[in-house]
Amino acid sequence: MPSWIGQAWRRGILTSRFPQEPATPDELPETGRAPLSTGLAAADELCPAGALYAGGVDQARCIRCARCLGQGYAFSAPPHWVASRLAELREPEAHASADPRDFPLAPLGRSLHVFLADVGSCQACNLEVLALQNPYYDAARLGITFVPSPHHADVLVVVGIPTGPMVEPVRRAYEALPGPKAVVAVGACALGGGIFRGNEGTGAPLAGKLHVDRFVPGCPPSPLDVLAALLSLGGGPPRGRT
Ligand code: SF4
Ligand code: SF4
Repeated sequence: MPSWIGQAWRRGILTSRFPQEPATPDELPETGRAPLSTGLAAADELCPAGALYAGGVDQARCIRCARCLGQGYAFSAPPHWVASRLAELREPEAHASADPRDFPLAPLGRSLHVFLADVGSCQACNLEVLALQNPYYDAARLGITFVPSPHHADVLVVVGIPTGPMVEPVRRAYEALPGPKAVVAVGACALGGGIFRGNEGTGAPLAGKLHVDRFVPGCPPSPLDVLAALLSLGGGPPRGRT
């Protein structure tokens, strides 16, 4: 036991300081960076996700593939990493002022139980969400725990674009949450279909099937993006990256 204490003393605290301190550059991977609008014309042939439109970038669709990098688009941290409405990700100026209805889990504070539903992901979003349980992100230090059943959950986190057979199970999972409850859609697939949009076998994005309280863009988003979304359900830390 004394040697464990000695090791911990020498190494110091290795767990992320977020949200008490802003995320560090090391915590924001390249996939967390996004192209920003430079007022260019639409470039459908350039973007495999259909995210570029005249004068702007739809962050909900962008899969961060970087094909537009060097074509007049500058990459930077996106203006918002969590949104309450899809429109905010297409038009940052549409970012709405705080509304009590935006915080459906305010009565629960930061004590949240999360059920993760993968309805058709490539597994990358899945892994980034589950990374919140590791010692670095350690969401449990903030009162956030993952549970194996929606009956015990406050938040349904959904990754992937709902494939046909998964539509009814995810709806049933949502209905099993006792409430108050909330839904967080994680990743471009869940937000707008991502790279699988329009493919045979994939259905409509999640927002057409369930009421979604938070949208987390990225392909995949970083665990801190997901953590910020969860904390914001109760009126937690600001949505900006700084
Ligand atoms: S990074 Fe890729 S997906 Fe995103 S806007 Fe550029 S080309 Fe489209
Ligand atoms: S958003 Fe990207 S990383 Fe996430 S499931 Fe879809 S393809 Fe995979």
